Amino acid sequence: MSDRAYIDRVREATDIVEVVGEVVALKRQGRDYAALCPFHQEKTPSFTVSPSKQIFHCFGCGVGGDVFTFAMRYDNLDFPAALEQLAKRAGIPPERPPTPHDRRVADERDRLREVCDLTQRCFRHWLTAGDGRGLAYARGRGLDDAVIERFGIGYAPPAGTALVRALAAKGVEPPEAAAAGVVAVGEDGRAYDRFRDRLTFPITDPEGRVVAFGGRALGEAKAKYLNSPETRLFRKGETLFGLHLSQNEIRRRNETVVVEGYMDAVALHAAGFGHTVAVLGTALTRAHVRRLKRYSRRIHLLFDGDAAGVRAAVRCLEVTVNEGVRVVVTVLPPGEDPDSLCRGQGAEAMAACLEAPTPLFEFAVAELVKRAGGRDLSSRLNALHELLPVARSLGDVAERHLFVTHVADAFQLPVGQVEAALAGGAAPRRRPVAPPAAGGALTEAAYGVVWFLTEHPESFAFLKAHRVDRDLETGPLHDLLTEVLASESLSTDHLASLLHAAPEISGELARRVLKEYAHLPDPIATFNDWVRALRRHHLRWEESEARRRLMEAEASSDRTRLRRELERLKVLRQEIASLPTLIWEGAEKK
Ligand SMILES: [Zn+2]
Repeated sequence: MSDRAYIDRVREATDIVEVVGEVVALKRQGRDYAALCPFHQEKTPSFTVSPSKQIFHCFGCGVGGDVFTFAMRYDNLDFPAALEQLAKRAGIPPERPPTPHDRRVADERDRLREVCDLTQRCFRHWLTAGDGRGLAYARGRGLDDAVIERFGIGYAPPAGTALVRALAAKGVEPPEAAAAGVVAVGEDGRAYDRFRDRLTFPITDPEGRVVAFGGRALGEAKAKYLNSPETRLFRKGETLFGLHLSQNEIRRRNETVVVEGYMDAVALHAAGFGHTVAVLGTALTRAHVRRLKRYSRRIHLLFDGDAAGVRAAVRCLEVTVNEGVRVVVTVLPPGEDPDSLCRGQGAEAMAACLEAPTPLFEFAVAELVKRAGGRDLSSRLNALHELLPVARSLGDVAERHLFVTHVADAFQLPVGQVEAALAGGAAPRRRPVAPPAAGGALTEAAYGVVWFLTEHPESFAFLKAHRVDRDLETGPLHDLLTEVLASESLSTDHLASLLHAAPEISGELARRVLKEYAHLPDPIATFNDWVRALRRHHLRWEESEARRRLMEAEASSDRTRLRRELERLKVLRQEIASLPTLIWEGAEKK
């Protein structure tokens, strides 16, 4: 085990609010902070961070713990790695004697890094060795020596076993080299170089340590681009090419440009766009986004003229939704990629292209509209369906509203139709926005209201007028009351059949009737208490939502939005204040 005193030292030097706040948008809520949970999809914040207790907890998915737990979960680390990361962050040198297991894992990783390092040195050597074929090619691609140096670009010769032999001479046997991903072992058990006759690009971790390689074929290889396979050091979905070289520039410009290949990233750096990174043979992932937002919350996707499209755009929407990042898109002219554009037309043309990006959401909608081609209603509705999962996961009510109006406009559909599509569909039905569970008293009130309705059908109009179903927690009881109140008038048969179809509700009702309701001294007064309790809970929750939106509006300094949110909050507070007057007087005398 790790040394307790050392762990405590790191803990004391670390503020959980700062650590969490770097990756999650926290809102002050009384003494604590609230946020949308980064560990499960949710629309209302149930994730809380307590500065006084230095812990976090999610009431939605139950995850919780101290700052170490958070780092382990968020960055997918084991405890020693989380401790190391936080110690480094706090500027505390490693001190604790590692366990044999720690040591073995660390040794293995160190050894793989060593192999990658040795490989990098070989590739660098071969770039200028022999006939200088690699260097000549690199220069022919417009890469000057400074860029070649900066990125550590190298060359893998065509021989087939040059690296196998070079590594063996340094004491690295093929199995180890294969574990590092630079050598492959064939079915016949023979080892050969993974990269042959290729320009090589070292792929590094954010600290700049080489963890893998990319290779651009010089000749007519089957695959123009080739990457190392995933290893213990290298995960494509979490790694961004060039990030360690771009970090400062990303912070300075407060934006990251993301391209699809390392040649493109290198070309952009060479042209003066030092805030560029590249994905490595995958689409952008949520892990990428979370990595990037430590440096800047604005992501600028740069698509090739012909590689853009609906799928890429929608996929990017899916991984950036609720991450609190602003994502914009630039599509290059047809037939161009960043490399060709920078070399063919120069940095100024590139800068001009980057000047007027489209917000990702608008871009995705426009692409879908383009594909639907203004055809009949059903094909437009079909196109719309690709966006619905994204819309459903939008955490912010205002954002969802914006989505609906924008989409309705773009697809020339009535707002109601978009809302209906959003509410229906194959995905789980979006419930009317409902407050989080609050336990016993509310369940009590909800059952009470349903029972009262069976006894006093004349209270139907009152319940319907005040939409009491909205105030219930989501669940079978809520669904039942929603369905009942959706009718024009109460059918007792309908209510009875619904109760019959939900034995768990009717069973519980029966129990409560026997134990409680049969003995109520003043059922009507109690009914009014129940209704007000439900209403109050819902309004309080709406009020907290409104306060959250107000803070967002304040942060965005959008005055129109700010005024609108203030107005909403005022209306809500009036409603809360007038709650005592919410009274059902009983049936009018017939
Ligand atoms: Zn959660």
